[in-house]
Amino acid sequence: MGLEANIRHVTPYVPGEQPRQKVIKLNTNENPYPPAPGAMEMLHQMDPEKLRMYPDPEIKMLTECLASRYQVRPEQVFVGVGSDDVLAMSFLTFFNSGKPVLFPDITYSFYKVWAELYRVPYTCPSLDGTMHIRAEDYCGENGGIILANPNAPTGLYESLDVIEKILKENPGVVVIVDEAYIDFAGKPSAVSLVDRYENLLVTQTFSKSRSMAGVRIGFAIGNERLIRWLLDVKYSFNSYTLSALAILCGTKAVEDETYFQKTTSQIIATRERTKRRMAALGFEFPDSSANFLFARHPKYDGEVLFQALRQRQIYVRHWNQSKIREYLRITIGTEEEMETLYEALEEILKS
Ligand SMILES: *Cc1c(COP(=O)(O)O)cnc(C)c1O
Repeated sequence: MGLEANIRHVTPYVPGEQPRQKVIKLNTNENPYPPAPGAMEMLHQMDPEKLRMYPDPEIKMLTECLASRYQVRPEQVFVGVGSDDVLAMSFLTFFNSGKPVLFPDITYSFYKVWAELYRVPYTCPSLDGTMHIRAEDYCGENGGIILANPNAPTGLYESLDVIEKILKENPGVVVIVDEAYIDFAGKPSAVSLVDRYENLLVTQTFSKSRSMAGVRIGFAIGNERLIRWLLDVKYSFNSYTLSALAILCGTKAVEDETYFQKTTSQIIATRERTKRRMAALGFEFPDSSANFLFARHPKYDGEVLFQALRQRQIYVRHWNQSKIREYLRITIGTEEEMETLYEALEEILKS
């Protein structure tokens, strides 16, 4: 009894399955293409000294490279171990007013987990009938806001007009825009707003558009003051967050803009084709701006489709949760993988 009472009890985030056997893996939004060739070469040329010694706690090389790519100052960039690390650190740093933090009822389920972990109160306004957010819901008194844009798992993008309205209404709290999927949107990033709104923090990741989920790199761009506060918390927690390997491979990946453009355009093209094919099979879905489709079939149960695909070694994501249990979230893979998916679905829908 004594022991139990002293524990920080939490309900953890449940990550998508990472099967060992070879399957068609469309369940955790990884990129089907390999990382940039330069990043791969880096691995082979790794200087043993770099592994023997502690890495650069300031992550200077990658921070400067990102600053130049996104046309901001290095003082406006914070790098972490995947955006999950950056976001966890941001909850700890920015959401301390005791007032509820706001995020939509249907969004990245980790937000709720961090709020619970850090004992941050939160309120979750419902998405509207079209699965978009209502800006008015984010304009009352609150302790901060976090929005994924494009949102997950819906894939829907909110215009910068909506984001700006929310920023203007909330000058006294931090508004985080989680842009894990922005590179697939073909629409403007909120990074363009950081010089105008000192309360804006934008996060992005190398896990999706840069094919490096296994390397764990994420970053935030914002006002210098916000970045300084984040760094203070980081150095109070763990100074050496990124490994020497991650710093080098990450930098090489950002330097190869051509490869990045080529692979993201390929995924966007496959996504648009997937929309046509899935619609032809009778599926309904919000118009995704991300590297996944959030789809339901009016005649078939989500769980049934999920299991039937799984039996055919095709893994997608399904949540047994009200409002979204009819849906499957399907990552956009290669053309070939998607072809196998359509064939499997055709067969399942016929039987
Ligand atoms: C994938 C994802 C993340 C986390 O990505 P990392 O792999 O930790 O960089 C954050 N937010 C959303 C909405 C995501 O889908």
